[in-house]
Amino acid sequence: MTARLLIVGPQGSGKGTQGVIVASAFGVPQVATGDIFRANVAGGTELGKRVQAIIEAGDLVPDELTSELVRDRLAQSDAAEGFLLDGYPRNLGQVADLDAFLDGRGESLDAVIELEVPRDESIARISRRAIEQGRTDDTEEVIANRLSIYERETAPILDGYRARGLVLAVDGVGTLDEVTERIFAGLATRGLRPRRSGAA
Ligand code: AMP
Repeated sequence: MTARLLIVGPQGSGKGTQGVIVASAFGVPQVATGDIFRANVAGGTELGKRVQAIIEAGDLVPDELTSELVRDRLAQSDAAEGFLLDGYPRNLGQVADLDAFLDGRGESLDAVIELEVPRDESIARISRRAIEQGRTDDTEEVIANRLSIYERETAPILDGYRARGLVLAVDGVGTLDEVTERIFAGLATRGLRPRRSGAA
């Protein structure tokens, strides 16, 4: 059984944390484009230098660069049976890129987890994270920019996935465990069950 999953939600929805849990339960790699970009910035790589200013402003890295990064990652052998993508695709162009890549391999997505969190709740969570982690893109102005990009460019990708019957809407308000349980329950309704015992 394959598990090719996306997790989509606004900044501060908890998708990073939940994504790690779900990916590990299904035994598939969690691929978070934001983490990959940040690691490159921290490591001072060529890619890092190209994207640093964009990330600090909270803008989107060009699709070409982002999609190539994701294709390279998903072509690695550990992603053969599945993956959990967090933070990608982030607009309709990236949806098309991902579809083309998967089509070319005769593969398709199994589910899109949509974490629903009201705007004021996600702002409160991001502000907490800003204090805890000191992320340079967690300033008030940049957060507002990232949230508006989410609403304008990323939320619309869900319409297409909904039309394909892929979206599992999950209430993201609650304790970490409650939300995790909801995600597993939703995935189970599609016959997607973790491989690792004790994971759910
Ligand atoms: P995140 O940790 O997902 O909030 O990502 C942090 C930053 O990395 C974003 O604000 C963007 O600048 C960049 N980024 C991450 N994923 C993407 C993507 N799929 N497309 C374009 N830029 C991205």
